[in-house]
Amino acid sequence: MADSNALEGLTQALRKLPGVGAKSAARMAFHLLQHDKPGALQIARAMEHAVNSVKHCTLCNTLTEQELCTTCANPQRDRSKLCVVETPADQAALERTLAYKGLYFVLMGKLSPLDGIGPNDIGLQKLFDRVVPKDARGEALPPESREVQEVILATNFTAEGEATAHVIAQALKSRGVQVTRLARGVPVGSELEYVDLGTIAHALVDRR
Ligand SMILES: [Zn+2]
Repeated sequence: MADSNALEGLTQALRKLPGVGAKSAARMAFHLLQHDKPGALQIARAMEHAVNSVKHCTLCNTLTEQELCTTCANPQRDRSKLCVVETPADQAALERTLAYKGLYFVLMGKLSPLDGIGPNDIGLQKLFDRVVPKDARGEALPPESREVQEVILATNFTAEGEATAHVIAQALKSRGVQVTRLARGVPVGSELEYVDLGTIAHALVDRR
């Protein structure tokens, strides 16, 4: 075993990356220190810069360096429609179809009780506040006065994605919101990111 606290510290830090266990972390640490010290410094600087400058869009919750992301800031988008997706990658998949002109809300995750991920971890309250804003007296705006007129649930067709869609649909319907779900053209158990564009476009058009 190598004799270095710094090396041990770097290995422990690398283990924070998803999918990286003790062996891989040690291999990465050896590689960086032995063959690519400039690369190691580049990673360190990029991480610090990203951590300090990237935040959540105040409207859609995706990651951005501005108050509003470019999609939310685009005046051409239809602000009466709000499509709920799990990740920025899913949003990108819908954008590639060119079939949707509304706005998005990016959960940055999905409900997953077994992993300890509950409503507060995926910004559900932020979504509800966005769709059903309150007036100056703190009362919910009536449906006809709200900017968002339809919420399209485009969470993945996995067990957790379906459960997340169900919870959101129940909460929003009870507040008088029109809620639709991507149609069933998308294969069960699939993640949008990996579904072909035509299928997603059809699922959007056939939503109910
Ligand atoms: Zn945004």
